[in-house]
Amino acid sequence: GSTIGILGGGQLGRMLAIEGARLGYRCVGFAPEGDNVAAELCADFFTARWDDTAALAAFAAQCDAITYEFENVPLSVFDTLPVDAVFPPRKALEVAQDRLAEKRFVEGLGGRPALHAAVDSRADLVAAIERIGAPGILKTRREGYDGKGQWRIESAHDADGVPLSGGPAIYEGFVDFAAEFSVILVRGRDGAVRFWEPTRNVHRDGILATSSLPAGERIAAQVDEAHALAKRVADALDYVGVLTLEFFATEKGPVFNEMAPRVHNSGHWTIEGAVTSQFANHMRAVAGLPLGDTAAVAESVTMTNLVGKDSASALARLAEPDTHLHLYGKKQARAGRKMGHVTQLTRPSRQPHS
Ligand code: ATP
Ligand code: MG
Ligand code: MG
Repeated sequence: GSTIGILGGGQLGRMLAIEGARLGYRCVGFAPEGDNVAAELCADFFTARWDDTAALAAFAAQCDAITYEFENVPLSVFDTLPVDAVFPPRKALEVAQDRLAEKRFVEGLGGRPALHAAVDSRADLVAAIERIGAPGILKTRREGYDGKGQWRIESAHDADGVPLSGGPAIYEGFVDFAAEFSVILVRGRDGAVRFWEPTRNVHRDGILATSSLPAGERIAAQVDEAHALAKRVADALDYVGVLTLEFFATEKGPVFNEMAPRVHNSGHWTIEGAVTSQFANHMRAVAGLPLGDTAAVAESVTMTNLVGKDSASALARLAEPDTHLHLYGKKQARAGRKMGHVTQLTRPSRQPHS
């Protein structure tokens, strides 16, 4: 097939479409109205509501394979799409859309999430804090990203003040971590799995600030266990495409935070920093092509997100050696909005020819 459909219109879709085009595919997008920065990189783009089945059917009719860049695509969308053409499979999205279902699924495969409890009422929250203790974090089970829909709870007193109107929630004990890291894999249609190097991730105000490698010894010591879990997750889902798992590195080993059934912000460094990027390999997997080498091409890499007004001064970084700027073309630099990223590489110097 030669047309790949992408559900969602954000920067991840934009970067997927760029790689799709490089491989000679026509990329066609679909997303509800919004600042769909993927649209200008797609050959065709459907702007319609997720429940517009006629538009979805017209989109699907163009596509030989369909993927998604947004993890909150309503599951009802898949009733209109040819299920065999959708990668990663619907089940991956179903699990990842609900923080409680996701934790249970991963626990069933031997993963260790933070202590947690479902919270549907004030009484549930009081009981959860009683059992798990404080500090902790109350999170909406669905639709949260970039730390949105989360409330830090310092003590049982805070249970009175937090809003519980955002639908079902989950209370998690606060994990006393030494560092955070993510593992990103790609799984092909034939079940072959490859991992990129893990990155150390630093968050600011709930938003990823930097991802860097090498991730350091503390994380390196926990990577085998994290990889093994990620592979079990991918195999259990019969996954096809790029899959990300976020972890806390603790004294007792890796604690699972969450997963994303898609290309991930902590993998943006792979565009310049790996032989094959997460975007290129995702498109290859979706298209049923052989996967590329995931090895890093640099000794160290730092990816820095440009959030909100950060992007204004970022052009100056183009003057720095081996530094690569990506701007997503978003119209408004609202506070907390990811506008672009910068990747800086340090490569081993080449020996001159004698
Ligand atoms: P993303 O944009 O990565 O999808 P999200 O909104 O789903 O973010 P989480 O990954 O759940 O949010 O949390 C964001 C950050 O908040 C984490 O990376 C971590 O720094 C901190 N955090 C979340 N849960 C916990 C916890 N239980 N203990 C300690 N820190 C936490
Ligand atoms: Mg998340
Ligand atoms: Mg996260």
